[in-house]
Amino acid sequence: MTNSTMFRRAVSCAERAVARLIADEVPPLPHNYEVWYTYFDGTKPALNAAIDQVLHRGGRFDCEGLEELYLAHIGGSDATERVEEISGRVAAEIAALAGAVQGSSGVAAEYTKRLVAASQRLSARPEPQEIVKLVSELIDATSVSQSKNRALEEQLAKSESELEALRQNLVEISREAITDPLTCLGNRRHFDCSLRESIESARQSGGELSLLIVDIDRFKAFNDSHGHVAGDQALKLVAKILRTVVRDADIACRYGGEEFAIILPATGLGEACRIGERLRVALQGREFVKRPTGEKLGRLSVSIGAAQLMADEAEQALIERADNCLYMAKAAGRNRLVSQADAGTALRSAIATVVAAAPPDLGEESVA
Ligand code: GH3
Ligand code: MG
Ligand code: MG
Repeated sequence: MTNSTMFRRAVSCAERAVARLIADEVPPLPHNYEVWYTYFDGTKPALNAAIDQVLHRGGRFDCEGLEELYLAHIGGSDATERVEEISGRVAAEIAALAGAVQGSSGVAAEYTKRLVAASQRLSARPEPQEIVKLVSELIDATSVSQSKNRALEEQLAKSESELEALRQNLVEISREAITDPLTCLGNRRHFDCSLRESIESARQSGGELSLLIVDIDRFKAFNDSHGHVAGDQALKLVAKILRTVVRDADIACRYGGEEFAIILPATGLGEACRIGERLRVALQGREFVKRPTGEKLGRLSVSIGAAQLMADEAEQALIERADNCLYMAKAAGRNRLVSQADAGTALRSAIATVVAAAPPDLGEESVA
């Protein structure tokens, strides 16, 4: 491809990616943009297949869906490449070590042979000159052996520090793979994994386990009014407040775009609700201020769904129950926590809210 063809192609992919994001009302943030750019560029067939599958069903992608695609097909591969590079470096270190050990054992074998030969020659009562020659030979052999051993020691020390650096890199990659870069909370992958593990250990210990799903109220409007940069700052602040209300053993994650999830091990529904309420109230008390200008952006609220693990329940059922409670909290007017214990009351309140908001005469158009 000539430079100008490549240029035109890149511009076309970029324009189509931005047009797509605008049409779907999704912010053209780097990850969102990269997913659509890559799609139009067609360089990752698996990504195109995943997107086409949803598009054929008439579906569309929001921030959350695009982030999942990004992690699975683009961001994830970056980590994979880094892990592959590290594996290559570990293999090279092992080869260097094996070479050094082999070289040293060859020298050791040769040295042993010389010692045995010298002792045999000594037992034959040699002349003094012969002993002088023998001792000189032994000194030479010893110095060769010493220098080879030094090389091995140096190689061992070098490999030790190189392997330690590689280990640190791998620890960092593993941490990044489970961290949401914006809020520094655990990401969705971490949530899925932690919930599975927490349920498993609750089953084994017979202990309780609760789950809170938190969703920022009317966040789209906040973004629309104040911009996505302010939206991102707000997400960070919500995450910061969230960190202050949870306990050490709780696992707080960014579940999706403006949704968070908190896994509360060894915690019953009552305590989980108290923690959720603390978060709701703490957030309500905070006025958002635009950093550079000091402009007041008002307050944000959250709706929260709370559920407790039931016997023999799979993780999906627990998530769905918490999600349903969240949905009821939204329907009942937002800025509230609904738990599985008060879902019935919340449902009645939600119906009352909907009925109160409905126009007196429901024409056919409204019903449709
Ligand atoms: P509701 O009270 O029903 O939850 O209303 P909502 O507006 O919060 O919900 P909706 O699902 O309609 O919109 C969620 C919005 O969250 C859409 C998107 O603009 C915003 N959002 C999601 N992820 C991000 C992000 O990473 N950064 C920013 N700034 N906004 C995000
Ligand atoms: Mg939401
Ligand atoms: Mg929301």
